[in-house]
Amino acid sequence: MGKLAIRAVLLDLDGVLYIGHRAIDGARDSVLRLQQEGYAIAGVTNTTTMPRRSVAEKLATMDIPLGEELLFTPASAACRLIGRHRAKLYVRPELLEDFSGVRMDADHPEFVLMGDIGGEGYPPEVLREIFLHIMDGAQLLALHKNRFWQRPDGLHLDLGCFVSAVEYAANTEATVLGKPSRDFFLALCNKLGVHPEACLMVGDDIESDILGAQQAGMRTALVKTGKYREEFVRKRGIRADLLLPSIADLPDAMHLL
Ligand SMILES: [Mg+2]
Repeated sequence: MGKLAIRAVLLDLDGVLYIGHRAIDGARDSVLRLQQEGYAIAGVTNTTTMPRRSVAEKLATMDIPLGEELLFTPASAACRLIGRHRAKLYVRPELLEDFSGVRMDADHPEFVLMGDIGGEGYPPEVLREIFLHIMDGAQLLALHKNRFWQRPDGLHLDLGCFVSAVEYAANTEATVLGKPSRDFFLALCNKLGVHPEACLMVGDDIESDILGAQQAGMRTALVKTGKYREEFVRKRGIRADLLLPSIADLPDAMHLL
C-alpha cells in the first residue's frame, strides 16, 4: 500500500512508561533506543493532575529524557480555545500554572473547564454549580473524557462520568480537549511537522489512545501494561497495528510496521 515510514513515536505516559511512581521495566532503554534510531519522540498524556513542568521532572527522576517541550497535554489546547474569554476552571491548584494567561471569572464565566479535581471526583453540589453556569450560557470544556483510570488499588471512575452528568442535565455537549479528540492528535502532528500516517501512537487505553489516533490517521501500538484488559479490547473490536507485552518490546517491533 506504500504507507509512509514512521518518523515520530508518540508515547502515552501513564500505563506505558510508568504506573504511579514506578517506571515500567525497559521504558527508559526503549525511549533511548528509539531516539538513537532517529525517531522523533513525544509524550502525549491526559494526565491533568500536574503541570507539564512536573511531568517532565517525574520523567527525569526515571532517567527518561522527555523535556517539557516534548510533552503534549490538554491544558495548552484549552488555553488556545479560551483565548481572551472569561473562564472558570475546575482543576487542581497545582495545574493552574499551565493556565497563567486565562482571565478568570467565578460568577459569569463564558467557558467552564472541567478537569481532574482530586479525591473521588466531583461532589453533587459542584456538578450543580457547573450545570447552572451552562444553563446561564457558558460553554462546557473538558480536559478529557476518560471513563475510568487505574490506581494501585484498582479501577476508579474518571472525569468522563462527571462531564457526562453535566452534559445530560444541561442537554449540551462538551468540547473535549485531550485524547481521544481527533483535533488534538492532528494539532500535535502539525506541531511536530509529521504527517499523521508517519506517526505511531503507543498507548494502554484502547479508546483514548488507540481509537483516537486511528481516527486521526495515525498508526498504533497497544501495550498490555497499565489499564490494558483483554476483555475491554475484545468488546470494543478495535485492532491496533501492533499488540505488545510492554514498551520494552517496541524497538524490536518497529520493523513490523
Ligand atoms: Mg495510559
